[in-house]
Amino acid sequence: MSKIIGLTGGIGSGKTTVANMFLKLGVPIYIADVEAKKLMSRSKIIKRKLIKLFGEDAYLNDNLNKPFIAKKIFNSKELLEKMNAIVHPKVAAHFKQWVAKQTAPYVIKEAAILFENSSYLQCDAVVLVVANEEDRIQRVVKRDNASKQQVKSIIDNQWSDEKKIKLTQFVIHNNTLLNTRNQVERIHKKILATIC
Ligand code: ATP
Repeated sequence: MSKIIGLTGGIGSGKTTVANMFLKLGVPIYIADVEAKKLMSRSKIIKRKLIKLFGEDAYLNDNLNKPFIAKKIFNSKELLEKMNAIVHPKVAAHFKQWVAKQTAPYVIKEAAILFENSSYLQCDAVVLVVANEEDRIQRVVKRDNASKQQVKSIIDNQWSDEKKIKLTQFVIHNNTLLNTRNQVERIHKKILATIC
C-alpha cells in the first residue's frame, strides 16, 4: 500500500506548481479540488443535493455552474460548509479507491483544506507550501484576474502558516521556481528514506 503524503498551503502559495514537480519525479498526484469538481459534475447524488442547496442555477445544461457557485460560497461561510459536507465525503471515498490502485512507494494528495477538517490525520506526513503574502497576492491576481482585496480576504479567512507549520513535517518555501524544485527533490529523497 502506498504511503499518503498530504500537500497543502494557503491560496496562491504554489501547491499545484509543487505537485507538478513531484509528478515529474514519478509520484502519483491526486488533486482534491479537481476531483471534487469532476465529481460535482458526474455524481447524480451530489447534483441533486447541490440543486437543493443552491437552486436550479447550480447547473447549466448539466454542467456545474462554477462562477455561480463560487459567488454564492464567497459570500456565505454557511453555504460553503454545507457544500463541503455534501462533496467531501464523496471525494474521500474516491481518493481511497484511487490510492488502492497505486503501486508507487508514496502518493501525494493535494488539498487546500487539510488541517482545517482534520483530514491530515489520514496522511503519513504533510508537505506545506509557504510563500510571502505579497507574492501570493500578486500571483493570484495575475492568474485569476481577481482583486487584491478578494485574495487578501481569502488569506485572512484561512489558517495562518504559523498554525499549519506546527502540524507539518516538511515545509517548502516557494520563492523562485529553481529553488523550489531543489527543495522538492530533497524532500522526495527524504520521504523515500524515512516514510516509505
Ligand atoms: P490555489 O490555492 O489558488 O489553488 P496554489 O497554491 O495551487 O493556488 P499555484 O496555482 O501553484 O498555487 O500558483 C499560483 C500562481 O502562481 C500560478 O499562476 C503559478 O504559475 C504561479 N507561481 C507559483 N509558484 C511560482 C513561483 N515560484 N514563481 C512565480 N510564479 C509562481
